[in-house]
Amino acid sequence: MAKYTGPSCRLCRREGTKLFLKGVRCNTEKCSFERRKFAPGDHGRGFRRKVSDYGVHLREKQKARRIYGILEKQFRKYFKMSEKKAGITGENLLQLLESRLDNLVYRVGFAPSRSSARQLVNHGHIRVDGKKVDIPSYLVKLNQEISIAESSRNLPIVKEAMEAATDVEKYEWLSIDQENYKGTLISIPLREQIPVDIDERLIVEYYSK
Ligand code: SF4
Repeated sequence: MAKYTGPSCRLCRREGTKLFLKGVRCNTEKCSFERRKFAPGDHGRGFRRKVSDYGVHLREKQKARRIYGILEKQFRKYFKMSEKKAGITGENLLQLLESRLDNLVYRVGFAPSRSSARQLVNHGHIRVDGKKVDIPSYLVKLNQEISIAESSRNLPIVKEAMEAATDVEKYEWLSIDQENYKGTLISIPLREQIPVDIDERLIVEYYSK
């Protein structure tokens, strides 16, 4: 499946929920979903197709993919990895997605959205345990430290994101030191600690059919 390069807000309208893909804008009245809560396209307004059982499962999987910005092939790979791990497959899947470097750069507040976080990683601005890592899908391990390269700390996108990130303490699985541009993964988050509106059981059922 090709990478989606269209407008992010269209994806929220397609999924019928806010996916928070555009950072600060998502929490303001400029949010397109707040203004147009109907599906995109000619038949979006007023036309409601009955969704099949398969469709419900498919939409939940697509929603998760879009929130974390992952292509189908890689998402399926994460699912396979989750199945092989001990524990609950759905929870394992979310834990894997949460441990991606781009997600953690976003969670610690260095970027306003996961897509911006991915760019920061791609452009070599991020360090893991002091070493440059420019792979957004890098899976961060327990007790690894993520930081911004010293020369990148004045990037406007980083400064603005850090100023706006006033609620980072809510992530109990992360230790965040904003003053020194650092964050550490101190535990693997439990399902109830991960603030994403996804019913992962539907995703497990989707791939198990
Ligand atoms: Fe979705 Fe954010 Fe766009 Fe609102 S502003 S529609 S939450 S991406």
